Amino acid sequence: MEIAQTLPEPKPKFFSLTLPELTEAIKSLGKPGFRGQQLYRWIYGMGMQDFEKMTNFSKEFRKEVPGMFDFQLPEVLTVHKSVDGTMKMLFNVGTGKSVEAVLIPSPGRLTICLSSEVGCNMGCKFCYTGKQKLQRKLETWEIVGQFVQASRALPPGQRITNIVFMGMGEPLDNCDAVFKSIEILHSTWGLNVSRKRVTVSTSGIVPMIPRVTQAGVRLAVSLNGVNDQVRTEIMPINKRWPLEQLLEACREHCRETGDMVTFEYVLLKGVTDSIQDARDLHELTRTVPCKVNIIPFNEHPGSGFTRPPEKAIVAFQNELIRLGTHVLRRRTMGRDIYAACGQLTTAANKTTPPVVSLN
Ligand code: SF4
Repeated sequence: MEIAQTLPEPKPKFFSLTLPELTEAIKSLGKPGFRGQQLYRWIYGMGMQDFEKMTNFSKEFRKEVPGMFDFQLPEVLTVHKSVDGTMKMLFNVGTGKSVEAVLIPSPGRLTICLSSEVGCNMGCKFCYTGKQKLQRKLETWEIVGQFVQASRALPPGQRITNIVFMGMGEPLDNCDAVFKSIEILHSTWGLNVSRKRVTVSTSGIVPMIPRVTQAGVRLAVSLNGVNDQVRTEIMPINKRWPLEQLLEACREHCRETGDMVTFEYVLLKGVTDSIQDARDLHELTRTVPCKVNIIPFNEHPGSGFTRPPEKAIVAFQNELIRLGTHVLRRRTMGRDIYAACGQLTTAANKTTPPVVSLN
């Protein structure tokens, strides 16, 4: 006679659950739903890791909680601190894969740059991550987990104030996990991060931009080319969704939210850095309520691009200012560690390009 063997059901991942989901899960285990709010408050709001110290739980519930959920977080492999305060964390996400998050301090704020995928399929030519093809999309707990682990690494009293999805991967290629993680990070019972302090940056997956609008978070677009020819050359996604479609989606986002879009523009010597490019950039973006972040390229091995000389960078920025574009230049930080917007890679975990701060 054959005996059927059933494997135990895996426990729900705590760091993948929104508060309503957690409440339902707790109720389904025969416990009062309000325990969900309490657990959220302890773990996210107060950073408590010891269930025995959760004093508003009964002794019985304190013992039961660890068995109810899987509290796994991505394991921290390394932490690199820059002399300027920037901190890069490398996380193990299993099967020999890893992703990075970067903490960037600036006056009055502490921003975390989160990864959404291991590798990326968008193939932007100037990007280090793009060289590492998409290997896997991160799950919600792995995105939330980067934030939680980084918070735990901070000195007491310091907290992360802003979130940008500009790390490894294209966030709009992994919408479900990204937007669910935003709901969790936003919960007033948990971390309470304001939606207006969350920015999702895309290379231009036009049909998914309304998800950013619906989530009430800020939109950043990696623009980088002033016409379809140049943009398609350096960002293959432009072939699928050319500039006019992308800009119209941005305008729609602005109409719906009343927000501005942030356009990121990488300065590549001889490709995107001429004075005429600055003028075309002004023309292109002036129909969208926006600010433009210019990012002098940080060279990395095998990119085939070079950083323009300082004189050309300043001239480009000055031309935009003269024309009336709201333009900011990103400060490059953390040259002594290794992480950059669109340049994170864990392919071989070798030396990395410098950090770019977020304005
Ligand atoms: S810039 Fe962003 S979207 Fe483009 S390849 Fe790199 S990670 Fe992917």
